[in-house]
Amino acid sequence: MQYISTRNSKIKLTSAEVIAMGLSHDGGLFVPETLPVLKSNAVEALCKMTYQQRAVYIMSMFLEDYSVDELKDIATKAYNNKNFDTPDIAPVRSINENTSFLELWHGPTCAFKDMALQVLPYFLTSALIKTGEEREVCILTATSGDTGKAALEGFCDVDRTKIIVFFPKDGVSDIQKLQMTSQKGENVNVCSVVGNFDDTQTGVKYIFSDEQLREKLSENGYFLSSANSINWGRLLPQIVYYVSAYCDLINSGKISNGDKVNFCVPTGNFGNILAGYYAKSIGLPVSKLICASNSNNVLTDFINTGTYNKNRDFYTTISPSMDILVSSNLERLLFEISGHNDKLISGYMQKLNSGGTYTVADNIYKTVAADFASGFCNDEQTKNAISEVFKKYNYLIDTHTAVGYHVLQEYRKTSGDDTQAVIASTASPFKFCEAVLEALGKKYDLSGLELIDKLAEVSGVKAPLPLMSLKEQKERFTQSVEKDKMMNVVESFLIK
Ligand SMILES: *Cc1c(COP(=O)(O)O)cnc(C)c1O
Repeated sequence: MQYISTRNSKIKLTSAEVIAMGLSHDGGLFVPETLPVLKSNAVEALCKMTYQQRAVYIMSMFLEDYSVDELKDIATKAYNNKNFDTPDIAPVRSINENTSFLELWHGPTCAFKDMALQVLPYFLTSALIKTGEEREVCILTATSGDTGKAALEGFCDVDRTKIIVFFPKDGVSDIQKLQMTSQKGENVNVCSVVGNFDDTQTGVKYIFSDEQLREKLSENGYFLSSANSINWGRLLPQIVYYVSAYCDLINSGKISNGDKVNFCVPTGNFGNILAGYYAKSIGLPVSKLICASNSNNVLTDFINTGTYNKNRDFYTTISPSMDILVSSNLERLLFEISGHNDKLISGYMQKLNSGGTYTVADNIYKTVAADFASGFCNDEQTKNAISEVFKKYNYLIDTHTAVGYHVLQEYRKTSGDDTQAVIASTASPFKFCEAVLEALGKKYDLSGLELIDKLAEVSGVKAPLPLMSLKEQKERFTQSVEKDKMMNVVESFLIK
């Protein structure tokens, strides 16, 4: 199976090549040229498998140049009881007869990005061997919080890789900061940047585009790559848990094989929900994919009207990982729906770049509207959702997951569609203690770390070990630079 770029479908590469490259040189994103299909008896077989076995099965459908043994090895290294605090890896918790949560936060950083970032480093090191790349890869990441730590954990001490994470000095929470600055590993570096997230991200983009630096690093045996969700290697592991959740619903007797389910996904960059779309495309019985946004509701408007318009106010919310106005992975969806029309998609993306807006053709919009529903939720409603779910079901959810819950309730009210639904639960509530405690009617003047204990006390729920043990962690990385000095950090880390 070959992969093509959303902006030039004549470029055809192997899966190893696209995983090593990340982004296509034409600025497009890679997708499979043709999609594999689940065999008629596949779901039945998958129901009897462990999460790791399901992962190998689904990933091998998309990665012809990785052997099954290789994928088994990767799944074992990524999804084991050292990294995950439950043998189910991504368990489904049902709260009533037709609503369940798919818990994607049992990994080392307690957010769903672990599901993919525990796998990507192994995909990548295999890809280096397969493509004959002799240099080492250095991952550069600008983070507003969750991605940086998940990438650090994933790449920590992985052969032939190094990783540098830049975060905005005053732009992350106490917990997020300590999670990153206490990171272990010989191949990692963490540095804060004086400025906000945009400054940090712009600095990283600038480093990527510097020809001179690229040559210098190459002479020293390195090339730069990115760990964000434009890489196909991050999307693919996410398809697995949609299939896995479906199997778990069958195993628990909630549905019969073949019944349709809805998935509701709290969305930022459109990566997670797009993986759900691919799961549906390969034949998983999915009815609606419900896209849940916070007050940054650019996707809600798009799904309701067919016009994407990023020219709008930006809101800082209590679900910060969804505070995004440009959802990169939407490009992949439009490419798929348009029947791989690279010219059309390039045109939309050009319009987005120049004027900040585009409107898709009618036939594309019709398909979007058939497959997707959408809704959004403000901070007040988010807190109400946390409180409601806790009071009614004694189940604690985080702010992002709460956006999903609220939007699902609204969708059910307006559509009357009571189909069995699964909400993607994207983070542990203990990552966002302050907002979750406020939702439960409690306010304390305490530091982030102290709030973890408070939330455990108030809710009666045990905090995840990786967050509890932060208290014993020492800050290891204290470097902070102006944004025009970020390049020096890269050079002095890589060139000894
Ligand atoms: C990244 C993230 C999201 C958004 O996921 P996308 O794939 O960007 O749509 C939602 N919730 C949490 C907790 C996240 O970290």
